[in-house]
Parts: sequence; structure tokens; C-alpha cells
Amino acid sequence: MSASAQVSTSSALMPTYARADLAFECGEGCYLFTADGRRYLDFASGIAVNGLGHSHPHLVATLKEQAGKLWHCSNLYRIPGQERLARRLADASFADKVFFSNSGAEAIECGLKLARKYQDDFGDKKRFRVICTEGAFHGRTLATIAAGGQEKHLKGFDPIVDGFDRVAYGNLNELRAAITPETGAILVEPVQGEGGMRAASDDYLKGLRTIADEFGLVLFFDEVQCGMGRTGKLFAHEWAGVKPDIVATAKALGGGFPVGACLANDKVAAAFGPGNHGSTFGGNPLAMAVGNAVLDVMLEEGFFARVERMSDLLRSRLAALARRHPKLFGELRGRGLMIGIKCEVPNTEVMNRLRDRNVLVVTAGDNVLRLLPPLVVTEAEIAEAMDALDAVAAGWT
Ligand SMILES: *Cc1c(COP(=O)(O)O)cnc(C)c1O
Repeated sequence: MSASAQVSTSSALMPTYARADLAFECGEGCYLFTADGRRYLDFASGIAVNGLGHSHPHLVATLKEQAGKLWHCSNLYRIPGQERLARRLADASFADKVFFSNSGAEAIECGLKLARKYQDDFGDKKRFRVICTEGAFHGRTLATIAAGGQEKHLKGFDPIVDGFDRVAYGNLNELRAAITPETGAILVEPVQGEGGMRAASDDYLKGLRTIADEFGLVLFFDEVQCGMGRTGKLFAHEWAGVKPDIVATAKALGGGFPVGACLANDKVAAAFGPGNHGSTFGGNPLAMAVGNAVLDVMLEEGFFARVERMSDLLRSRLAALARRHPKLFGELRGRGLMIGIKCEVPNTEVMNRLRDRNVLVVTAGDNVLRLLPPLVVTEAEIAEAMDALDAVAAGWT
């Protein structure tokens, strides 16, 4: 075993993760390899990060080229790669302006600050509260755990950041009833990830826009997980034909290089001026080079249509599996290649047994098994994952 692959049991890492005793040395496409040569089919994609799989040649070449030129440059100067990526994201979406961060939580933080500043400048100073939903996940900073509202994430971290109210996901009446003179924004995941892979209906997303307009609220979508092609469109809300005011995205934006983005329309973005927000590393030349390379691939003709085809194939196979094994599996959830399958047995046990068969998946809330294959997954790889699922199901006792 090479030194870099050694995982010490007396770890100096803070024990914030219950890690599997498994380390990877390299990856290619939809596969990961351990130092001793074991191969795993990756249907987790680093939790929806490796959208283009591992070691995508265009991404590798782009990062290598940029590494030889310039790694870091302060945002006190113009960063051409940033201007280009912002322009391309805006041209491909509802947005007019973009702020780059290093993570999803930071992209959400940027959006939360922007929503407050917008109300402060152009709306009503009192309107600092944000309506969020049950089962939400928005990150692990103090403000984003408050926005997510999950007891398991909040416990021990009092006082909870103020300004977040909670309603049932998918329920417009409850949301409307929760609006007060202090409400300034609505923050919703078009497809909930961690919370259980629930996809919002198009009518729900449209209803959110209508309500936001009626009450002068900022409509803010968290597309950190469901954005960047995961559902078969660049952003999941596009399926509903709705235009939000703010969108945060991250995970697959850098294909594995840490980068996030907060997108906004001109109306809301007008609230930010010099000094209102910042980040040392945000929009760093390395991240921007890779982000642009990701868009080169995703915006190619036929990329999203292919995601949809692979999604249809995988979903129909999973539905058939669930019909054959109703004691193990229930409903299918999610959208595109963001797939949840409700388990009737413990989801972690299914995940572990798949891992024993060299297939990686993740779990989600509500006892859901989460399948997030790279968007470049092939029919043969889907068949391989299904073989493993079939074997796990057949051998269940
Ligand atoms: C992962 C995730 C986040 C947080 O992103 P980090 O990069 O881990 O900070 C926020 N929202 C959603 C929906 C996510 O899936």
C-alpha cells in the first residue's frame, strides 16, 4: 500500500464523519480504484459532485494547463475566467449576475445575505425572515443549519441563528399562512437531497413564484445538489418554467474542484455593491478554469438529453426491481439522475451490502437509498449496478 493510501486508525482527524474503512487512490469515469487495485462502481459521485465522472480528460487537461499559469489572484483585480464563467452561467439561466464561493453553504450564505440586503435597500427593513421547508438541507454553517432546521444538525449549537421559519415541503397553503410582515424570502430545494430525495411538483414551484410576487418576497432556490445537469436540465427549476430571484449551486459545478455560485437576477443583485460581500478564494482562477471546462461539456448539444435517457433507463429498471421485491423497496423519488428509492429495510444496510459488491451509493433521510451516478453513466454501468442490486435483493434474509 502506498503511503498516501494508508488510513491510520489512530486518526488525527476530528471525528465528524462515521467513515467506511475504504480509501481510493484514483478514479476513471464511473469507477474508483483502491491502492490494492479493487474497483468500485461509483453511483454516489462524491454526493453529486463528480457529474462528469472521475478524471474527465477535458477537466484534467484544463486544470493542468491553468496550474502552470496562475493559481490564485485576489478579487481586488479582474479575474477573466470568473467573468467568462459568470457570463456563461447567466446566458444559460434566469440569472444576470453571479458571485463565486468555495462551497454550497457559502453560496447559500451569499443568497441569504443578498435577500436581506435587497429587502433592506428596496423592500422593507423589517423583512429579514426566510421561510424554509421541512426536510431541508442547506449546509453546515451556523446560518445554514438554522435554515435547514434539522434537529440532529442543530443540537448542541445554541443559540440558533434567528430568522428562519418552517413549513411543510410542497404545501402552498401552509406557506402562505406563515407569511408575516417580517418575511422577506422563501428558500426551497426544487428537489430535496439529504431530506429524502423528494422532487417538488411543477405546480408547487410555480405557486412559490406567484406567492413571492404577491407579497414582495425573494424567491431563492437551493440547487447545490439538484443543479448543474443532475435532473437533465442545467437547473432543476427549469422543468417548471419558473424564474427564481436567487439560485445557489455548487456540487457538480467544479466536477470535483471546490467551487460554488450564487446566481441572481438584476433586480435583487442590485442590492450588492463593493464591500457588501467577499471571499478570498471565491472565484479563484483554478476553480474558474475547471468550472468553464465543466460547462464546455454540459452545454454541448445532446448532453442533457442523454442524462434524461439514462435516467429513464435506470428508473424503469429500479421500478421493476421494487415490484419484484416489495418487502425491500417502495416508491421511486427524485428527478433525472437524482434518484431515491424508499427502503422497507434499513437503507444503511442496503448501502453496505452494495458496497460489499463494489457498488457505491449514499443514503438520504426518510430511509431512502440515494443513487447519484455520474451524469456520463453508460447503459453497461447501469446494468452492472442493477446486477448488484438484484444480487443484494435476492440474497436478503
Ligand atoms: C451539499 C448541499 C449543501 C451544502 O454544500 P457544501 O458544499 O457541503 O457546503 C447545501 N444545500 C444542498 C441542497 C446540498 O445538497
